[in-house]
Amino acid sequence: MTIPAAVAPPNPSGITVIIIGLGIGGLTAALSCHLQGHHVIGFEKLENLEPYGDGLILTPNGHEVLRDLDDTGMIGEWVKKWSYNCTDCKVYNTSGVHVGQHPIPDTDKGLSLVPRGGLVQALYTTAKRLGLDLRLGVKVTEFHEDNAHASVVVDGVETTGDCIVFADGANSRARTVVSTTNTKPYYSGFSTYRGKADGTALISDPRCHWLLNKDSTNDCATAFAGPNMYVLLATCGKGRASFCLGITQLVDNFWTTPVDKEEMLSQIDYWKCIDQIRPVVDKMSKDQFILCPLLRAGVLESWVSPTGRIALIGDAAHPFFPTSAQGATQAIEDAATIAITLQRAGKSNIKLGLKAMEELRKHRATFIQRNAWRVNDAWFDTPAEERIGKKAAPAIGVIDWIAQHCCRAYAAEEFERVSLSIETGQPYIPTNIPPERKGHTFSTSLLRC
Ligand SMILES: Cc1cc2nc3c(=O)[nH]c(=O)nc-3n(C[C@H](O)[C@H](O)[C@H](O)COP(=O)(O)OP(=O)(O)OC[C@H]3O[C@@H](n4cnc5c(N)ncnc54)[C@H](O)[C@@H]3O)c2cc1C
Repeated sequence: MTIPAAVAPPNPSGITVIIIGLGIGGLTAALSCHLQGHHVIGFEKLENLEPYGDGLILTPNGHEVLRDLDDTGMIGEWVKKWSYNCTDCKVYNTSGVHVGQHPIPDTDKGLSLVPRGGLVQALYTTAKRLGLDLRLGVKVTEFHEDNAHASVVVDGVETTGDCIVFADGANSRARTVVSTTNTKPYYSGFSTYRGKADGTALISDPRCHWLLNKDSTNDCATAFAGPNMYVLLATCGKGRASFCLGITQLVDNFWTTPVDKEEMLSQIDYWKCIDQIRPVVDKMSKDQFILCPLLRAGVLESWVSPTGRIALIGDAAHPFFPTSAQGATQAIEDAATIAITLQRAGKSNIKLGLKAMEELRKHRATFIQRNAWRVNDAWFDTPAEERIGKKAAPAIGVIDWIAQHCCRAYAAEEFERVSLSIETGQPYIPTNIPPERKGHTFSTSLLRC
């Protein structure tokens, strides 16, 4: 194996950023920080990044960050390959009767449905090619900060930097460091079954052909809405892959675990349309079929530690529901923002760099997070027989003020204003949220909805 030569970051800032967790948030932070001239050291507990996860929706606010992360344009091309050209998703009830359409927003503005593992791999490959110091198979359990440094200890060896960015997902161990309330995410009562299959798997079985587009030029999506589960089956990348997502209320778990596909199918085997669903679910890769709990969490008092050298981004700061269609993209926005605010604040003012990221991001991410919960709950609370027409499916909340936002321009333009508000203690009024929310703040008391 050829080890890439370390590429010196452009215009070095002198800042060393330690990143814990190399999912989409952590890897985007690593690449964005590199581009802003920071030295990056990343740790990920998994040895193999690729296997788990089905499809992620990426919207233009995420694309615009990803496409500029890589000097060869490889990531942008990869995302483009998965651009989603499915224009509607028919929704059926458990008897197979068509009851409505799932709104698929903004497909002409650059919506993509990408395999999560594929995106993680594309980001990781690019980061390694650029010579970033990313270490896999390392679970970080010990970390410290003081007024001058932040450090992690792995296998008795201490690695020191200027700050630690925790991108370690919804169960982040740093939530207790930045806040005294709402530190523990709690099980929402909803879980998702997630599976993925290669495109050819469906083609090989005539019983799955109902889901495929005849000429493979478009993608297809179909949903089945039952009282206890919402099942979405879709192709993406013009048939290159297919996904299964089942949102259910019936399973209580706290960790993402591989499960037997029969576990999902047994919950819906009384549905009259099971003969359509079963062959497609059967094609999902056996060892990659997972059950993920959907977690909720109250708003953290802060995303930054009192000492000011530890910050949370992505799901670690704000766990998302699939009904947001924004889990990955909001982590990407956090990641791109923190790289810029650290660069603007400079090595001598790390706390300002991290706090500025929080101020710029917290309201926007929290609003989108809450909206997704409302959409999910409204759907499950509607009696099954009333789920027709517009109520047939939980709508994904991608609208223009979310999708058309450019977080990098926003961070660059707002940095002076947000710095002033942090220095003076005056509240920062963000403008990257919907007009009707401007001036509102989210209570840090637990919003258990
Ligand atoms: C295995 C998995 C599968 C997923 N599948 C889907 C999906 O199919 N569809 C979807 O919409 N969303 C999925 N998600 C969630 C989605 O990726 C996130 O909502 C979103 O991308 C935000 O990403 P994140 O980087 O903030 O967090 P995550 O994606 O959760 O990444 C966190 C990373 O931190 C690592 N980590 C955790 N603790 C430590 C530690 N102590 N030391 C080192 N590393 C640590 C984890 O292994 C993980 O790689 C999945 C998440 C995971 C972890």
